[in-house]
Amino acid sequence: MSSPPRARAKLVTIVRRSRSPKPFPFLSLPAELRNQIYSLCILGRPHDGSSSGGTPPTNLICVVGSRFCLGDHQPIVTRINRQMRHEALSLFYRENVFTFNFDCDRDTRWPYPHDFFSHWLGIIGPSNTRNLRCVKIASPVLHVRNLTITFGDSFPSGKLALEMAGDFFENTWIRPEQRQRSLWLLETFLINGFEAGEGELVARVEDVTEMVDLLWRFQKKIEGCSHPVPGLGKGTDYCEKCGVWRFRRTRGTLD
Ligand SMILES: [Zn+2]
Repeated sequence: MSSPPRARAKLVTIVRRSRSPKPFPFLSLPAELRNQIYSLCILGRPHDGSSSGGTPPTNLICVVGSRFCLGDHQPIVTRINRQMRHEALSLFYRENVFTFNFDCDRDTRWPYPHDFFSHWLGIIGPSNTRNLRCVKIASPVLHVRNLTITFGDSFPSGKLALEMAGDFFENTWIRPEQRQRSLWLLETFLINGFEAGEGELVARVEDVTEMVDLLWRFQKKIEGCSHPVPGLGKGTDYCEKCGVWRFRRTRGTLD
């Protein structure tokens, strides 16, 4: 896409030339120029990626987390007329990265206990869903720092790259005796096979929706467990009643 400043400059020129009191004929602009204008209205907060080792800039739309917006996240330009809605929405879902922080329990507006991801996809609808290209998920409870899902053209299959909290991931792989702690999570990746890269796990899965909802239900189970676990803190923090591994919430060494 061409740079927003250049598109903005073009737009300013066009508007300045248009001294007519008649409405500006936006829909008669060439599609390419319309798309550049939409881009100015639909892109989320630019993220320079400087903290993540020079990854390309992305635009983040926070769906759940610090700013709850669910269906309200669609930009105002999508509500003007049918054609503009169609054109702007397809760009909106294609070009933004949608972020979800699973740690949103205190936000009672979330319609718990629905399956998380499929519920959101149901709200945005199938045609918008097919335009999704990148979704990022964080879950402090699951020690998932960043689960990046990329779709390509083949929704619901996609590629998952999982980055767990540093110490946790390291323990999983470097110290085999700690492996059981995240077994439940790794199992979900094992279903379709995974590769371990540096600092992340990568999996290609047939149904991303199912996978994300599974993680969501894991989190709900862990959060819902208040049984006393005898070994908690001693490396055997498994609740037999709930069938979940419990995690210490504090950061640092695991033993
Ligand atoms: Zn329990």
